[in-house]
Amino acid sequence: MIFIIFVQLKTKTMWQIGLLVLIAGGVIWGCTVKSRGNNTEKDSTKVNSGSDNPNDSIIPSFSKEDLIRKLIHLSMSPVPENLQQGAMCYSAMREPDSVSYICPQCSEKTLYTISDKDFYQISNIVRYNIHSCRSMAEKIKGLDLRIDEKQFCKKCSPDVVSPQLCLYTHIHGEEDTIKVSSISADDLEILQEFLSGKLIHSGDRDEQTPLKNYIPQIERMLGIKIKN
Ligand SMILES: [Zn+2]
Repeated sequence: MIFIIFVQLKTKTMWQIGLLVLIAGGVIWGCTVKSRGNNTEKDSTKVNSGSDNPNDSIIPSFSKEDLIRKLIHLSMSPVPENLQQGAMCYSAMREPDSVSYICPQCSEKTLYTISDKDFYQISNIVRYNIHSCRSMAEKIKGLDLRIDEKQFCKKCSPDVVSPQLCLYTHIHGEEDTIKVSSISADDLEILQEFLSGKLIHSGDRDEQTPLKNYIPQIERMLGIKIKN
């Protein structure tokens, strides 16, 4: 009888010990997973803070002298050979009869219809050029660029009949900001190619042209003239 009770006690104790071991194991496992989770969070925080545009700080701003030197260098460079012709054919998309523009400043929607003056030109700018110009202006480093699109908003610019995209360029160390009207994504592409030291301009359909052909455009955007 005593033996049976002992066995029962022992069995009960063993069962309790087993349960305790299970609970303890569970707690330890839980902590490990939690601490792993914390590490992951910490790691991801590290990645985020590390990817906070580390390259921006090391890209130097161009001075006016730097830009004049680069323009002179481009003007004296030989015309590159074996330039690509680019794709010859492209399908013409049907033009819409109306296009709407949403102003990023005041959020007002402006509707342009086929009865508006310069509708096809406006439609092309609103549908493609504004977006390309915005992203190009963000990509270009070393100059302070701002795209001004407020002429396309009839609330912000009620008197404008033929709206144009404008570019404001500020060169580091200079007092004045240069304003250029009728800017296109192609102009900004040319500016980026010039700043990155390229000698070739690649167009919309991958056709290549010597970048030195566009020196007047580059001068206009920078407010600099190397030859009088
Ligand atoms: Zn507006």
